[in-house]
Amino acid sequence: MQYRELGKTGLKVAPIGFGASPLGGVYGSLDANEGIRSVHVAIERGVNLFDTSPYYGDTRSEAFLGKALQGAWRSKIILSSKAGRIAQSTFDFSPSHMEQSLDESLDRLKTDYLDIFIAHDIEFAGDFDRIWTETVPAMERLKQKGKCRFIGVSGLPLGLLAEAAVKAPIDLVLSYCHFNLLDHTLKDRLAPIVKERGLGLINASPLAMGLLSKSGPPAWHPAPDSIQTAARRAADYCSGWNVDIATIAVQFSVLDPAIPVTLIGMKTASEVEQNLAALDATVQSELLEEVRSILAPVQGKTWPSGNWPLEADLIAK
Ligand code: NAD
Repeated sequence: MQYRELGKTGLKVAPIGFGASPLGGVYGSLDANEGIRSVHVAIERGVNLFDTSPYYGDTRSEAFLGKALQGAWRSKIILSSKAGRIAQSTFDFSPSHMEQSLDESLDRLKTDYLDIFIAHDIEFAGDFDRIWTETVPAMERLKQKGKCRFIGVSGLPLGLLAEAAVKAPIDLVLSYCHFNLLDHTLKDRLAPIVKERGLGLINASPLAMGLLSKSGPPAWHPAPDSIQTAARRAADYCSGWNVDIATIAVQFSVLDPAIPVTLIGMKTASEVEQNLAALDATVQSELLEEVRSILAPVQGKTWPSGNWPLEADLIAK
């Protein structure tokens, strides 16, 4: 495994990170033994960044991960969790909530500190300025207390994440659904700013939250029909070649050296193995070309999220 630098944090991350939202049942039911195995196999194979949140499965992801990491496992990984997003439509980015939430996360994760602490989906804040003037300074104080080592923000709108990179004294940014076969906009719109500021960049959702998979997305997926239909056509086209679109999708996101780490949501050991194997898979160039042309009409299109308005030009009809 070739490890990459995460900004100026000094952390060295494997290019595939473990997204633990599926461990909270976000993508359907979980086989507990398989879930534990997925965590252990990933660590044994060199995956070292694990990301969760109290929001995933209403704290179930954190509680599950805490159990899986008992023993010596915790010390082998970079553990990331979040606060601020409590439920689908419930948010609290106040300093007191950030501290209380972090303390509760530490209890569930059975650890004394997080390596990475993230303000979760900041586009839902009522007042973005308060993220820079209240939330992030409170997170910085938690860092000073030793409860976390590095702090950052996450969200969907790239414009807001770029603003955070410039305005907030953070260590890293987590972006999702903007660097995969359907949408490459992260690379031009956020990666250069993040690099210039010396911040870490975590990319998430290379399968576009299940769109780029044979079995397709969960019912809650927010993408409009145009994106869902194009993804379905591309997945079916790959199946015609006897290729799993997930293989091409993982390869696309993870192999690009401009993006240090990509979180993939996983809950079985075979997904872990399959995603690691994808890095060395040979993909026929004609297949890739056709997949790109099927997805071209929706390339870079996104969907609204929270209170940040400036993505309107990119929103799919
Ligand atoms: P994803 O694109 O990684 O897709 C996950 C889905 O794909 C799950 O159903 C998983 O079981 C399935 N899957 C994994 N490997 C597969 C394979 N080889 N073949 C077929 N299916 C496969 O989406 P995600 O899980 O939402 O994103 C990854 C992680 O990034 C999350 O778990 C979370 O940790 C993080 N994330 C953070 C934010 C945020 O902070 N706002 C948003 C999205 C994701």
